[in-house]
Amino acid sequence: MEQRTVRGGPGPHDAPGSADPPGQRHAADARRRIPRTDDLLRDPRLAAAADRLGAHRVKAAVRQAQERARAGGIPPERVPQHALDLLPGTASGLRPVINATGVLLHTNLGRAPLSAAARRAVREAAGPTDVELDLTTGLRARRGRSTLAALRARVPAAGAAHVVNNGAAALVLAATALAAGREIVVSRGEMVEIGDGFRLPDLLVSTGARLREVGTTNRTTPADYAAVTGPDTGFLLKVHPSNFRITGFTRSAEVADLTGLGVPVVVDIGSGLLAPHPALPEEPDAATQLRAGAALVTASGDKLLGGPQCGLLLGREDLVHALARHPLARALRVDKLTLAALEATLTGPPTPTARALTAGPAGLRARADRLAAALAADGIDVRPVGSTATVGGGGAPGVTLPSAAISLPEPYAAALRTGRTPVVGRLEAGRCLLDLRAVPAEDDDRLAEAVRSALTGAEGPTA
Ligand SMILES: *Cc1c(COP(=O)(O)O)cnc(C)c1O
Repeated sequence: MEQRTVRGGPGPHDAPGSADPPGQRHAADARRRIPRTDDLLRDPRLAAAADRLGAHRVKAAVRQAQERARAGGIPPERVPQHALDLLPGTASGLRPVINATGVLLHTNLGRAPLSAAARRAVREAAGPTDVELDLTTGLRARRGRSTLAALRARVPAAGAAHVVNNGAAALVLAATALAAGREIVVSRGEMVEIGDGFRLPDLLVSTGARLREVGTTNRTTPADYAAVTGPDTGFLLKVHPSNFRITGFTRSAEVADLTGLGVPVVVDIGSGLLAPHPALPEEPDAATQLRAGAALVTASGDKLLGGPQCGLLLGREDLVHALARHPLARALRVDKLTLAALEATLTGPPTPTARALTAGPAGLRARADRLAAALAADGIDVRPVGSTATVGGGGAPGVTLPSAAISLPEPYAAALRTGRTPVVGRLEAGRCLLDLRAVPAEDDDRLAEAVRSALTGAEGPTA
C-alpha cells in the first residue's frame, strides 16, 4: 500500500491536511472519479458501439479516453462521451464522403455511387442466397442467372453476357481466351493509360498475347488493320479513349469498317453505356457497337452505368461462352453482392449517376441559392456561383456540364475534408467550391450541417 501511494501520488487514504499542495489533491480527486473500464463498457451507447464496431475497438477508445482524463485533458465526466467521439462511424476504414468535386465519376471516391435499390439488394444478398441454386428443383443453377438475364434484356443485341471483376478483367479474359500466343491488332491512337500508371497495352501483353500496332497516334485507317490481319490474328481491338481526346487532323476506323476481315472485333467502350445517351452523343454504347458488328464489347460497371465495380462482356454467344468456361474466368468471377447490386442497377430506377448527368442547371442553381442563403444567415462567408462539372475519368472526355456551387473561403476545403461527414470540394481561384451536380439533393441538409460545423469543430473530432 505504501509503495502504491508513493508511485501513484497521493493515495485514497491521505488525510486532509497532509503536506500535498491543494492543486495536486484536486487532481487526485479527479483521477479517482474516472469511471472504471467495466462500468464504461456497460454504458448503453458504448455497448451499442461494441455491437457495431467490435468490443476490441470500443475498449481501445475507452482506455484512450481514461488516459486523457488521467492526464487532466478532460474532466472525468467527459470520459464516456470522449470515448464515443473517438470511435469511427463505420466498421471499416472506408468513410462515406459527400462528393462535391463536380466530377461525377471520381475514381478516388469510388466512382459511381449505388442507387438506393442497389444498396438494398446488397443488404438482402449479404446472407445465404440462391446465387447458384435453383430452389424449385434443388439443383445447382447458373451463377448470377437473373443478373445476366437483366443485362441481356437491356442489350438485346447481345447474344450472351458475362460479368467479371472490372473492365480490366474483362479485357484480360478476352485476350487470354481469344488471343494468347497470337496477335491483338490495335491502333497506336488507342494505346491508352487508364490512370494511376495502368496501361492497357501492358495489361494485354501480360496475358501472353502479342500486340500488333497499326496506324499512327492521330490517324488509323481500315486498310491499316486489313494489312496485318491474318491467321495469327486473335482479334482486332478498338479501345475508346475514355479520358482524353485527340482533335485536329484525325481519323480512326469504325467497327463496321473492320467486320469483314474474318476475325472478331472486340470493342472496349470503357464507360458502360448500354444504349446511346442524349447528353453524351460522342460516348460509345454497347448496343450500337454490337449492331455495327462488334463480336464482343467490354465495359466497366461503375462508370456511366452507375453500378458496382464489375466488368461486362457482351456479344456473340459462342465467344462469351468460351470466355465464361475458360479456367481464368473463375479467378475473375464476381461475388453475390456485386451480382445483386448490378441487377438492381439494371432493373431499378435511374441511378444517382444518371440523375447527376441529367440534372437541370436551373434546379442546381436553386439548390445553391437556398444553401448559400441559409448558411449566410449563420454568418458564413458564402455565395452561390455558376460552376462547370465533368463526367470524370469514367467517360465522356471533354464534355462539360453546366452546374452550380456554393463558394466558401479556402480554409473550408481542408476543414470539410477532415470533418465528421467528410465533404470533398475543389479549389478554384482561392475559394473552396462545393459543386452540387454530383451531390444528391437529399444530401443538401447534411452538406449544410458539415459546412456549419467545419471551422467550429462543433461536430467533434474524427477518429
Ligand atoms: C475504365 C476503363 C478501363 C478499365 O476498367 P476498370 O473497370 O477500371 O478495370 C478499360 N478501358 C477503358 C476504355 C476504360 O475507360
